[in-house]
Amino acid sequence: MSQVLIYCEHQNGKLKRSATELLSWAQGVNLSVSALAFGANSASLTGEFGAWGVENVFVATDAAADNYNPELFTDALVEAAQKSGATLILGSASSSGRDLFPRAAARLKAGVASDCVGLEWSGTAATVKKPYMAGKVLAKVGFQDSPVQMVLMRANQLPVNASTKTSSPAVTPLAVKAPLWAQIQDVVKGASAKLDLTEANIIVSGGRGLKEAGNFKMLEELADAIGATVGASRAVVDAGWVGHGMQVGQTGKTVAPTLYIAVGISGAVQHLAGMSGSKVIVAINNDPNAPIFQKATYGLVGDLFEIVPKLTQEFKQLLHK
Ligand code: FAD
Repeated sequence: MSQVLIYCEHQNGKLKRSATELLSWAQGVNLSVSALAFGANSASLTGEFGAWGVENVFVATDAAADNYNPELFTDALVEAAQKSGATLILGSASSSGRDLFPRAAARLKAGVASDCVGLEWSGTAATVKKPYMAGKVLAKVGFQDSPVQMVLMRANQLPVNASTKTSSPAVTPLAVKAPLWAQIQDVVKGASAKLDLTEANIIVSGGRGLKEAGNFKMLEELADAIGATVGASRAVVDAGWVGHGMQVGQTGKTVAPTLYIAVGISGAVQHLAGMSGSKVIVAINNDPNAPIFQKATYGLVGDLFEIVPKLTQEFKQLLHK
């Protein structure tokens, strides 16, 4: 049976949804699964890995592995790949995944497909679906002459099905250390306790139609009512209304939530590149010819300053908040 190694990201002592999507996929195609996790508390994930039928867990528990460190993570991934004998290595197309996989691929002489939205396994070879030209084209891509195939999947593209197999995984600690020339001094976290945009199931995004920074409060209220994370277009990020961590699009984050509500966003191709994979798109815009309506599942033509507070009120009543 072919071996797959999955780079599993976690937060607050739990696997991220993006990691469980990969574990669920690997179980569905009957691969023998090894997992790699980083950080002092990664050993506590063994129970969760067992619930997914993972056979081997590689952990780097050095305190320096609590935060992403390119050198340390690459050493660990290469070691885990060699020890597991994996011919397929999967990870999420997060900022650490995008940095880590090409570094490890160079050492493993592997091919990498990044930013994938679909994944098939023939028994020996992976075929991925990848967007090109800001999402206007979707291509099916395979690997050529690559004994090890590395794939970075966008989050929210694969279903999480109920696990059909459990295990008692063998845990292998990796004795990797951060080299002196690459030490992380400080990590500044965003103030929000909400889910990161790439993990969020519901997103409310605001654009220049909001007129000024203070009006984002209106979106936060709507987001609170429906359990959403707030995103933004580049126009408002460039204007300094919100931080770059909230930007959705070609030069921001790629998101694929179940519900994306675009408020006062015109729908420029660079914005669509980051959110057109959303399952249901609701657009609120006072210009009936705004391009966002061509992508929207539901369109509300009108003044966002009237519509958004009414929506918030309705949701609060419906959801008893
Ligand atoms: P606008 O285009 O100004 O749209 C504002 C919308 O609000 C309009 O449609 C208007 O009708 C509507 N509106 C105004 N008032 C109201 C009201 N009262 N009620 C309802 N609706 C109202 N953009 C991104 O978003 N993400 C990216 O990652 C990104 N990357 C880029 C990369 C490159 C190389 C380039 C060149 C551009 C990039 N852009 C990106 C910018 C992109 O081209 C657009 O300029 C940007 O998305 C526009 O943002 P917006 O929709 O908020 O603003």
